[in-house]
Amino acid sequence: PVFDPSKLVVVRRLGEGSGGAVELVRDPGTGRLLAKKVIARTANPAMHRQLLRELEFLDACSSPYIVDHYGSFLADHDSQVGILMEYCEGGSLDSLLRRMKETGMRCSEHVLGRIASSVLRGLDYLHERRIIHRDIKPSNILVTKSGQCKLCDFGVSGELIDSVAGTFTGTSYYMAPERIQGKPYSIRADVWSLGLTLHEIAHLRFPFPPEGESEYVAPIELLSYIVTALVPVMIDDESIGRVWSEGIKSFMGLCLIRSGTERPSPRELLSHPFILTSEAKKVNMAKWVAALLDA
Ligand code: ATP
Ligand code: MG
Repeated sequence: PVFDPSKLVVVRRLGEGSGGAVELVRDPGTGRLLAKKVIARTANPAMHRQLLRELEFLDACSSPYIVDHYGSFLADHDSQVGILMEYCEGGSLDSLLRRMKETGMRCSEHVLGRIASSVLRGLDYLHERRIIHRDIKPSNILVTKSGQCKLCDFGVSGELIDSVAGTFTGTSYYMAPERIQGKPYSIRADVWSLGLTLHEIAHLRFPFPPEGESEYVAPIELLSYIVTALVPVMIDDESIGRVWSEGIKSFMGLCLIRSGTERPSPRELLSHPFILTSEAKKVNMAKWVAALLDA
C-alpha cells in the first residue's frame, strides 16, 4: 500500500529514542494504523536524499521476522526523514520487559525460545541480503498482538550508521565486545546482542555490572565490564523452582562467546537443539503479550 504522509492523522505517541520520535498514525483513506518514525537529528541533513535512497532497500524486505516498511519521505523542507512502518501493538520487548520488571512476571523458557528463534530468523534473512543489524536490543524487537517478534531499526543506511558511529548515541550496552573495542565485526556481533537481550528477559536484570558489584557505574566503566568481566551465565533459582534446561544454557553460552570470530552465526544457531525443540513446540505468544499488557 502507498500512503500519503501529509494526510496521516496522529493518534498518539508510541515512544521516543535518541534520534527522534515514533507516533501511531491513521491513514484516513483506509483506516489503517501505522507507526511513523521521524529522524530529526542526523549528522548531515545534506545527505537526507541519499538516506532516502538507502532506505528503499527496506521496500525489498519481506519477512514475518522483519517489521514491514511502507515508505520513507522527507518532511519540513528536507530537514527530517520520516519512515512509515507496520504498527506492532505489543510494543517493543523493552516496554514488555519494563512491565515484567514492575510486576515480577517471569518468562517461560518456551517464550524465550520463540523470541530467540524469531530474532535468529530475522538476522539470517538480513544476512542473506548482506545486512548486519548492528542494533539488536529490546527496543528494536517489536511484538505484534498475535505475539510475533520482528526486527526494526537495522543498519541499511551507511549514512545513518556513520552519523551515529563514534558518538555516544551510537554506543549501546548490548554491543558485542569486538565492537566496543573498535575491532572488525560481522553478523556474529548481533548474536551477542541477542544473548544479552535474552539474558535480561530471563533474569529481569541487565547482566552488567555482575551481580554483587556496585550497581551504579559510569557508562564507560560499564563498557569495560562488558569487555573484561566474566560472561553472564544462566542462573537457576531453586527457591522458586526455576531450573534452566541444559539446552537453553548451552544456547546462551554460545551466544555469549566473547570472541567475535568463535561465536556462531545466526544460521548455525538455528539448528541448535534449544531452537529446534522450541520451534517444534506450540507456544501461545499472544497470551503472553496480552497477560503483560493487562498486568
Ligand atoms: P534508541 O534511540 O536507543 O535506538 P529506541 O529504539 O527506543 O531507542 P526508537 O527506535 O525511536 O528508539 O523507538 C522508540 C519506541 O517506540 C520504541 O522503544 C518502541 O517502544 C516504540 N516503537 C517503535 N516502532 C514501533 C512500531 N512499529 N510499533 C509499535 N511501537 C513502536
Ligand atoms: Mg529503535
